[in-house]
Amino acid sequence: MKPYPIRCVSIVIPVYNEQDSLPELLRRTEAACQQLHHDYEIVLVDDGSRDDSAQILEEAAQRESSKVVAVILNRNYGQHAAIMAGFEQCKGDVVITLDADLQNPPEEIPRLVAQAELGYDVVATVRSNRQDSALRRWPSKLINLAVQRSTGVAMSDYGCMLRAYRRTIVDAMLACRERSTFIPILANSFARHTTEILVMHAEREHGESKYSPMRLVNLMFDLITCMTTTPLRLLSIVGFAMAALGVLFATALIVLRLAFGASWAGHGTFVLFAVLFVFTGGQFIGMGLLGEYLGRMYSDVRARPRFFIEKVLRSQPAAPVSVVTVDGLTSTSSDQVLL
Ligand code: UDP
Ligand code: MG
Repeated sequence: MKPYPIRCVSIVIPVYNEQDSLPELLRRTEAACQQLHHDYEIVLVDDGSRDDSAQILEEAAQRESSKVVAVILNRNYGQHAAIMAGFEQCKGDVVITLDADLQNPPEEIPRLVAQAELGYDVVATVRSNRQDSALRRWPSKLINLAVQRSTGVAMSDYGCMLRAYRRTIVDAMLACRERSTFIPILANSFARHTTEILVMHAEREHGESKYSPMRLVNLMFDLITCMTTTPLRLLSIVGFAMAALGVLFATALIVLRLAFGASWAGHGTFVLFAVLFVFTGGQFIGMGLLGEYLGRMYSDVRARPRFFIEKVLRSQPAAPVSVVTVDGLTSTSSDQVLL
């Protein structure tokens, strides 16, 4: 891992109805950024707030020599879409995301930048003293476990949005065309070197969480579909298991019938069960097959880049070639040598 030279740091913050937190957020974030030895910008994305957030942001951006960039969305698109909009507008070599409600202390920014400078593609954080209700903590524990299992990237806290991403990772995420994303997982699918650091977590002082139980369920589906199409494959697996069980059951019935005679068979009730198992299993297999097609279509539709080249190294600079045009066909001198 090589040290990563940083010229500019961008802070991207999604804002949705956070007018009470904004003044303190701006003050503390600017103070933290001034500790950096780099140029910086603070990109705040207003996600269709219905309070005065957008106005506060506009005013902050219009102040003389302000480092604040205000991005105003026309309506509410959700936290992750808002962050993507911020990614599109920022220019830093390292991009740090942060919540606007001050649950992630901006004072941690220099530590994240220092880690990114060491050469990590993604610097994640773990909330050392998570200040959320148990009702909010347990689902995220479950989610973390599921993600760890299916992506193989061991990270302990996917819910904490205080993270740093290297420019290449941000560009790779922007090249993904899917509409619903879960940024930390998407980033991990492009990252090679990742690290986690412990950060403080504060209680929400103003307003309340923007995630109702229904929105949380939605977020969970975003998260699952963002990383894997395994649930679709599960249908086939369940189908195969059921059908196999049915066949086993039927075989056992035949053997028992031969061993203990016709009176044992209970007028065919059990046979019905065996047949039912096989047919239901068959249906699940069919659905799983449909799922496989859907999964493939889904990956084509979201059109994630097939690969992402970090850099290309060649041993020698290519020799300048003279270009010759014959009958509208362009050929180079090296082609001619081959001819
Ligand atoms: N947020 C947003 N759009 C939304 C919901 C939330 O931009 O539709 C922002 C919100 O302003 C905050 C961050 O996303 O900066 C996290 O939201 P919240 O604190 O409500 O989530 P929680 O901490 O409860 O997970
Ligand atoms: Mg919060």
